Amino acid sequence: MLTALFGGTFDPIHYGHLRPAISLAQEVGVKQIVLLPNKIPPHKPQPIATIKQRLTMLALAIEDLPLFTIDTREIAPSDANRPSYTIDTLQQWRNENGKTASLAFIMGQDSLLNLPSWHKWQSLLDYCHLIICQRPNYAARTDNVEFQQWIDKNRTNNVKHLHDSAQGYIYFSHTPLEDISATQIRQKIKNQQCCEDLLPLKVRQYIQQQGLYYAKKN
Ligand code: ATP
Repeated sequence: MLTALFGGTFDPIHYGHLRPAISLAQEVGVKQIVLLPNKIPPHKPQPIATIKQRLTMLALAIEDLPLFTIDTREIAPSDANRPSYTIDTLQQWRNENGKTASLAFIMGQDSLLNLPSWHKWQSLLDYCHLIICQRPNYAARTDNVEFQQWIDKNRTNNVKHLHDSAQGYIYFSHTPLEDISATQIRQKIKNQQCCEDLLPLKVRQYIQQQGLYYAKKN
């Protein structure tokens, strides 16, 4: 069985995460997508929501979606200030699940373009496949020649490769384009604008109940 991990800050989780993930599960034949919230994203500003709030929003978002589960290993309290490196998580997953289980890591096109800044990025394919979701406004190719060669060398258009091999391929899925970002949602909430089509109702209700992302009143 091919397992797919989907890492992110999820501050908050939104339809730009959920819809492409559901669509790629169908396209690729993934039975389980494991949401992997990270604690201190090494390349981004700190999340606004607390770990508990992000986790609650994830739980609410997937309540009726059995395709998804949540893995909290990167936000375990024991590692208080340690950044969560994907490579360490993948290594840990391999130790737990063995060398022959097929594993994919899902990311958006923006994350792929940013990959050369990730810790030990060239070793990622030693542990998993990468499944890329297209994202509006991000280039399909990179200007970094060496990086583009690495992508082309490892790329496959055949989903069977993702099942038959434990790791090592990059697959570009044909998921729907969703012009949604958590930044845009936080901004809209701050400006008291409607986010109806951007994230699930239960998550919106929770955000409202917690007063999350609203501008502070003096
Ligand atoms: P922010 O706006 O705060 O940077 P984000 O909306 O990009 O957040 P993240 O939680 O950082 O959300 O993203 C987790 C993963 O989901 C990343 O790999 C990202 O590329 C991907 N992703 C997020 N939004 C989309 C989208 N609309 N379409 C495709 N992939 C997405």
